[in-house]
Amino acid sequence: MGKIEAAVKSILKEIPDNVEVVAAAKTRTAEEILEAIEAGIRIVGENYIQESLPIIEKIGDKAIWHFIGHLQKNKAKYVVPHYDMVETVDSIPLAEQISKYAIKLDKVMPVLIEINSAREPQKYGVFPEKAIDLITGIKDLPGLKIMGLMTMGPAVNDPALLRPYFAETKSLFDTIKNSGIDGIEMKYLSMGMSDSYLIAIEEGSNVIRIGTKIFGHRAY
Ligand SMILES: *Cc1c(COP(=O)(O)O)cnc(C)c1O
Repeated sequence: MGKIEAAVKSILKEIPDNVEVVAAAKTRTAEEILEAIEAGIRIVGENYIQESLPIIEKIGDKAIWHFIGHLQKNKAKYVVPHYDMVETVDSIPLAEQISKYAIKLDKVMPVLIEINSAREPQKYGVFPEKAIDLITGIKDLPGLKIMGLMTMGPAVNDPALLRPYFAETKSLFDTIKNSGIDGIEMKYLSMGMSDSYLIAIEEGSNVIRIGTKIFGHRAY
């Protein structure tokens, strides 16, 4: 068994059935990604449009494609035709651009709202206390459907330090879910990466984004 196959199988065995794995595939080749798919990965996450489009062309509908990087609003037109979900919506102008191009393609793009759970000014994502305003501001845009939240959390040396950020994002997720806002479906809570996914799952994540632990260390 290859390393990628072994890694995928051990992760899938370790996590509860309700948790989806997104293979975070930045810098990886189509061959590596296909190996992960053959081992049981269904969802692939990409961060960069230019790098991902030829890979999506090769692999196509053997995977479900999530955009997990920061999306500039002028790039929405390249993402909408090729991806099945955008996990990183954090502004009204970006949502409007996704909506605009989705309408043209007669498509409804599922999106997650990216939460800046550590409230770091230089980072992407909406602050937790601004999330409901953003959701109510974009939920009625045609061609777009809000399906949950995503968070990265701050860069820390000890993944245990991420727990409070995951817990706060889960609590926000539940508040929104129980608020009865119509037109949205709070189904996915995307949090946790290679070194933090078990903690994230304990705190309520049902989508984990794993790169290094599947593919090995990235060589830039
Ligand atoms: C790269 C990346 C991941 C995966 O990170 P690893 O530590 O390699 O598992 C998850 N989410 C996002 C948004 C990423 O860019």
